Amino acid sequence: MKIGVPAEVKNHEYRVAATPAGVHELVRNGHDVTVQRGAGLGSHITDEEYLAAGAKILDSADAVWGGADMVLKVKEPIAEEYHRLREGLVLFTYLHLAASRPCTDALLAARTTGIAYETVQVGHSLPLLAPMSEVAGRLAPQVGAYNLMRFNGGRGVLPGGVPGVAPAKVVVIGGGVSGLNAAQIAVGMGADVTVLDTNVDRLRFIDAIYQGRLKTLVSTRYAIEQEVLAADLVIGAVLIPGAKAPTLVSNDLVSRMKPGSVLVDIAIDQGGCFEDSRPTTHAEPTYKVHESIFYCVANMPGSVANTSTYALTNATLPYAVKLANLGWREALKADAGLAGGLNTHDGLLTNEPVAQALGLPF
Ligand code: NAD
Repeated sequence: MKIGVPAEVKNHEYRVAATPAGVHELVRNGHDVTVQRGAGLGSHITDEEYLAAGAKILDSADAVWGGADMVLKVKEPIAEEYHRLREGLVLFTYLHLAASRPCTDALLAARTTGIAYETVQVGHSLPLLAPMSEVAGRLAPQVGAYNLMRFNGGRGVLPGGVPGVAPAKVVVIGGGVSGLNAAQIAVGMGADVTVLDTNVDRLRFIDAIYQGRLKTLVSTRYAIEQEVLAADLVIGAVLIPGAKAPTLVSNDLVSRMKPGSVLVDIAIDQGGCFEDSRPTTHAEPTYKVHESIFYCVANMPGSVANTSTYALTNATLPYAVKLANLGWREALKADAGLAGGLNTHDGLLTNEPVAQALGLPF
């Protein structure tokens, strides 16, 4: 199969859909891989590394898309890419169609086969979303610690404290993939960490791993209030699948928090779990609410593009190889999880929740 890897064009998107190891694996399986010149530079991967792994390098996005049976991308196509969509092309990428009617219309009009990373599902887990939750989770205490520094307007508290001085109190609301990764880094920094979740089984699991190095609490409004009022850093990491994030920290509660405390809302891409959360960018990541600092960047993994590229492609590569080796129809028949990824084909929407969200026929 001919596989194309174009450069990402969305604003501030520095990831790329294949690493040299991924190219090598696809070539080893008998496929032709073409990478757009410079596609890896945002993640510090050079054209020479792709060439050495067996890729061909082409200058233009049109040439990469035009010559491919399957295009591997990171983000959904944007308007300037729509003219490259066509019938017979398989596009394997994050699509997030429920959030974009124009992209959905473009894929349907072009009759492109769109397979979305975010709807590939194995049991209850979303294996192609999990790596980005891991990255965002591990990043959260780091950006929290940075913003706790005095010159950033924070309390001037060191997460680990020092001998004779108490560590910072870090409260993680939601102990799923991103919350557990946030807790792990906060514990590693030496902070005093509490994880709240509504799922007691999940808390059992976390408690068993951490053996007393962090506290777990069932998430109730009462427990959240007590913990948030005592916190230096609050990390919001909740998810109710398919729904807007619940508002768990009110404006009134923030008004009573310690001055200079920091709130990182990882769940901002689902609307955020603090009342005053609104999406921010890496260019201007924070803003003040009462005496606290909010950090609500909707694509946190973009700031560590190198790590994120490797984490994402580690997860996508086995599926890309399967799609290439078997062809998309047989690959989806052979793998029920991957079949969940099919969002568009032959001018039809093939994912029910996406169709419902857009009010389109399924
Ligand atoms: P997850 O499903 O693994 O975990 C969510 C957890 O929240 C679950 O354990 C669930 O029991 C818990 N929860 C639900 N309601 C709760 C409540 N009221 N109180 C406490 N806990 C509650 O989800 P995840 O993969 O960790 O993702 C969390 C959020 O982070 C999602 O919205 C995801 O899209 C987002 N995310 C954001 C970025 C970013 O850059 N901002 C990156 C990756 C993921």
